[in-house]
Amino acid sequence: MDCFDGSPGQFRDFRKGDFEANWIKVAESRFSQVYEVKLKLWREKCALKSVDTTLCEHNYYRRIIEEVSNLAKVKFKYIASLYGLCSEATGVVMEYMSHGSLNNLLASHTLMWPKKFQMIHEASMGMNFLHSMKPPLLHLNLKTSNILLDDHLHVKITDFGLIHWEEGTSKKSFMEHLTARGNINYIPPEIFTQCRDPPGTTFDVYSFGIVMWEILTQQKPYAGCSVTKVLLHVSQGKRPCLERIPDEKPLECDPMVSIMQQCWDQDHRKRPQFSETVMKTEALSEVLKAPGPNHPSMKGNRGQTSDLSWLVPPVHKIAFPQMPDVPSEAHAKDNILSLL
Ligand code: ATP
Ligand code: MG
Repeated sequence: MDCFDGSPGQFRDFRKGDFEANWIKVAESRFSQVYEVKLKLWREKCALKSVDTTLCEHNYYRRIIEEVSNLAKVKFKYIASLYGLCSEATGVVMEYMSHGSLNNLLASHTLMWPKKFQMIHEASMGMNFLHSMKPPLLHLNLKTSNILLDDHLHVKITDFGLIHWEEGTSKKSFMEHLTARGNINYIPPEIFTQCRDPPGTTFDVYSFGIVMWEILTQQKPYAGCSVTKVLLHVSQGKRPCLERIPDEKPLECDPMVSIMQQCWDQDHRKRPQFSETVMKTEALSEVLKAPGPNHPSMKGNRGQTSDLSWLVPPVHKIAFPQMPDVPSEAHAKDNILSLL
């Protein structure tokens, strides 16, 4: 493992004593806790994600240790920087993102259209960067909780490159790993149907399509549905409901929806690469950024220029209706790996 002298931008294995004593827990999930910590040396807030090695499958933390020195070299505006490890706390140390995750923001604030488009575009730039590496760096864990927001509500992708599909691993165990992390909504159908190809860039493109839907609707896909029902629904080519996209929308929403639909295409070979998507999202977000005088996205928003002004707290809580029943379950079940 590479270890350097501790200067900013260099990978290292931090000691618990390198941080000030007050660790603030910002999130806790089944496998990990995330703390806001302050590095004594740099006087800089960082996030420390401590992995529960007793709950993660045995080689997950070892894999993180092996990967993190390489992942720490990945630097880009729309990618959260990794600073290193803290082996003593079985965790990774990374850039602290003051506005937390997109997942939380979408549930707590109403976003205006230009901000939604900007976030979609920034996330596609982050993903395009990862996929333009040689070989492409697959995320395989892209979801709204892995899209973080900085002080000015700009997007950075995190937790990339830690999930792998390895030769010899069955798709069943890969699926079990993903579903245990609560990722069921983001898994493309070819992973749980009979297709034998290992996941490639089109896996992330599919997940990005679901993320786009969540940004456009500010709702959760397949809310209230069991894992089995989601698998059946998706394997039949069904996707989150387009009617949930608010009626009051700019004209540019239709082409954005069309990109989203291409991203979650049932046939993974038809999904676009991020290099193509990013050009389209750039053009669409530019149009909304500089709207004409009567642009619907700007009604009532004149003179608001700061990034935070694109939010309206608190969001009106919407009850999520159940997804309609899925017909011909028996047929679809034949196609799904015996996972559950
Ligand atoms: P996974 O382990 O599959 O990535 P997850 O993203 O739901 O699952 P964590 O990665 O532990 O779980 O993150 C949980 C929450 O911690 C995020 O939703 C976010 O609110 C917060 N968080 C994570 N990383 C940071 C960070 N670098 N800065 C600030 N908050 C963070
Ligand atoms: Mg995460």
